[in-house]
Amino acid sequence: MDDVTLDDLPLAEALRGKTPYGAPQLDVAVRLNTNENPYPPPPELVADVVAATERVARELHRYPDRDAVELRTDLAAYLSGATGVPLTTRNLWAANGSNEVLQQLLQAFGGPGRTALGFEPSYSMHPILASGTRTEWLPAPRRDDFTLDVDVAVAAIRRHDPDVVFVTSPNNPTGCSIPLTDLRTVLDAARGVVVVDEAYAEFSRQPSAVKLLAEFPAKLIVSRTMSKAFAFAGGRLGYLAAAPAVVDALQLVRLPYHLSALTQAAARAALKHGEQTLASVATLVSERDRVVASLRDLGFQPVDSDANFVLFGHFEDAPAAWRSYVDAGVLIRDVGIPGHLRVTIGTPEENDAFLAASKEAV
Ligand code: PMP
Repeated sequence: MDDVTLDDLPLAEALRGKTPYGAPQLDVAVRLNTNENPYPPPPELVADVVAATERVARELHRYPDRDAVELRTDLAAYLSGATGVPLTTRNLWAANGSNEVLQQLLQAFGGPGRTALGFEPSYSMHPILASGTRTEWLPAPRRDDFTLDVDVAVAAIRRHDPDVVFVTSPNNPTGCSIPLTDLRTVLDAARGVVVVDEAYAEFSRQPSAVKLLAEFPAKLIVSRTMSKAFAFAGGRLGYLAAAPAVVDALQLVRLPYHLSALTQAAARAALKHGEQTLASVATLVSERDRVVASLRDLGFQPVDSDANFVLFGHFEDAPAAWRSYVDAGVLIRDVGIPGHLRVTIGTPEENDAFLAASKEAV
């Protein structure tokens, strides 16, 4: 069986020659490569997750609530509180990580004969999800300093008239956010839907795009996740806020019972402790600013970040530099931007280990 290779399979044309997405999972002491929250959940949260999943375990012979109404209601309460924008259950949708939310969006609004446009470098799953849904991907450039030039963005949107526009704010892997005034200009220019990927919103100084939902109900979709600030990456819970009609559209493409009863219960238990979990955001933001300043002192050129990671250079040979960090016991990310590497902000001790390795890498 092992002698059959991918080339022997009748693989879809769009997938030929592709490599799977994913950072190397290496057993290294300091792991700063996937933008997680470095602080594990507190014992009270763990106890609540255990109690909640035990309760649903008794009902595992039944399918879960297909519409995850209670979870969406809790998410609406959290997001309303965080943004000051009134939202109800009908504005919220949830799935297994925001990657699944984004995939469902492309299933509903992209597809064969349709296009999706994004401003690169950005989150590399966007073009992969486009390819997986047979949506044509249209890359548009950012400025050399990685910020979004709104005039260039509008020109690209006018030229291509995409069905879906992705704006990642704060942008992964560069860390910069888009101000709401610029986002409004992008929304005015777009005919199709504009998906603002706010996976790192809790770390940002900018207000959430949720504030523009009432103004652009037929266009704006804001995607969020519990994987980053909420310290729930292993729980797999992403969500979005949009007009109820967008949620109706996603119900046409979602798999029935896509969110397990265990996931729904665990996410609700974690949300109950949101305030406590999110207290780590302030520490991470001040650590981020310390890491940026220290990298600058060491002679690196870090990109100013609004998220829980920092893109920095300049390396003659970034892949070789990445290897030297691994050899020093620090796993960071080579995101394929020449001369640059990306580090996730960890605990103060982890950041010290990263900075010590950086001193060697100079
Ligand atoms: N959007 C962005 C910008 C991300 O960086 C990530 C995680 N790397 C995601 C979405 C997806 O995260 P998840 O599926 O864990 O919600």
